[in-house]
Parts: sequence; structure tokens; C-alpha cells
Amino acid sequence: MAPFASILLMLTWLSIPRPPTAGGDAAPEVTWRPEQPVQGHLFVLRVTAGPGERLAGVEGRAANEELHFDRVADGAFESLAAVPIDATSVEVALTYRYEDGAQASASRRVTVAPGDYRHERLTVAPRFGAPPDSADQARIASDNAKARQVSRRSHRTARIWGGDVRRPRESRVTSGFGNGREFNGQISSRHMGLDLDGDPGDTVVAAARGVVEVVDAFLLAGNVVYLNHGGGLLSAYFHLSEQLVQPGDTVEAGAPIGLVGATGRVTGPHLHWVVRYGTTSVDPRSLLELVGR
Ligand SMILES: [Zn+2]
Repeated sequence: MAPFASILLMLTWLSIPRPPTAGGDAAPEVTWRPEQPVQGHLFVLRVTAGPGERLAGVEGRAANEELHFDRVADGAFESLAAVPIDATSVEVALTYRYEDGAQASASRRVTVAPGDYRHERLTVAPRFGAPPDSADQARIASDNAKARQVSRRSHRTARIWGGDVRRPRESRVTSGFGNGREFNGQISSRHMGLDLDGDPGDTVVAAARGVVEVVDAFLLAGNVVYLNHGGGLLSAYFHLSEQLVQPGDTVEAGAPIGLVGATGRVTGPHLHWVVRYGTTSVDPRSLLELVGR
């Protein structure tokens, strides 16, 4: 973890009407883990009812993404949430629904720690090292629209994934998430996935249980598989030589879904692994740290 200077956790209550029958001075307690969420990382929000409060459910949004709270073992409610890579804080808006039908709202501002992101210079095929022409721009826009559709569907799908979350390849990380990149000294972008080493034909497995949403050939990402894990979570696997699944398939964590390749904008064969909460791309390692093994 990077050294985090001057971390502030700011708590803000905004006009919370006391639920009519909840009684007492308590309001649900909102906590999160890790204690200092990091730019470009997932974190877990937790709502714990106060003494005498009977919560039926919690809804809300964080950093403009819908939250999906599940009741956990001790009666608290938890949801994944994501810190956008360029955010310095995350606004959380919550609605508590009580068993007697009362509702109350609360908000929090979670100040986040900076990510440890670097700058890389890469050389790729000339087509990918210059600004895209209008045909390529149209193709990229169409590819992005298909990806956004998966983001929307992940928010509309109940959680499918369980505690079994794993790396899609047990291999070396060749490029981390979030680094700034310059291609052929001309165009720059940000690396919004995690690169895992592999030779063409090496197996890629599903990181978690999910439904296959997209099996396609994208311009920059090459041959892709997108998995919808529900509850806002999705993952994608880029540059494959071959896809082994069909849209609509349900796959378990660890099931083979494709083979490593070098399709799309690449410097060589590898797996580019993407994890998103809704439309917010996050470091896949933050998912493994929260729930993986
Ligand atoms: Zn990559």
C-alpha cells in the first residue's frame, strides 16, 4: 500500500428525520472497510442498526453508482462500492427502510487515499499508436456501448457471485491497474485493467460465478468475454485468441472461458483483466483483497 498522508474520514449527517417508531437516539451506524478506501479500489459499506431499530432494508448510491445491500450474518447490511480512480472523496447517499414502513435518509462523505499509479511508454502497431480515424472512432463507440450495456445489466441483476473469487490466471502481473500510458509517443490513456502474463493458448478462467453477457471482437480489446456477476459487479477478459463460452451461459468461478491471445491493441500476448462496479473500473486486486483468496 502507498504511504497515505493526511487521511481524513469525514462524516456528515444531513437532516435525518427520526423514524417514528424506532425509538431511542440511535441511528444506523455506517462503517466501511478498508478504513481508508483507495482511488480505483472497491470497498465494502456496512450499515448496522442501532439498539431497538428494526431495519428491513437499505438502498443508496455511492459515487453515482447504485448500491446493492445484502443482509449479512449478524443482521447488518453490506454493499460493495467503488472509488473512481480520480475521486478524492466518495459521496454516499442512503435510505433506511424500517420494518414498520418508516424511512430515513442519511449521507456520508468518505475521503479516500491516493492510489499509487505510474506512467508507462508503450509501442504498438501504427494503427493503434495514432488517434483513431472516423471508422475506428465509430467502432470504438459501438464497442463501448456494448460494454456499458453490461454495466447497466449488472446493476439490474441480483447478485450471482459468491465468496469464491479468484485470479483468472495464476501468473505474473505484467502491468498494474491505473498507470498512465503513452502509445508510440502520441496518444495517452489510462490502463484500466490488470495485465497477467500468458502464452497464446493458455487457459483463462472466470474470476467469479456469473452470466456471460458479451462474446465479441472489439477494436482495442480484441476478442473479449464479459461476465455479469450481478449486484453491480462485472468482469471482462481482453485480447483472447479464442472464446470458450456463449452469451447466456452461467459459469462458475474457475471455469475456463477463453484462451490467452494477442488480439486488439497489444504489445504481445497477455490477459487484460477488467473488473467494474457498474461503469466504474477498479483494480481487480482490490476485489481479491476484499473477498478473494
Ligand atoms: Zn492491459
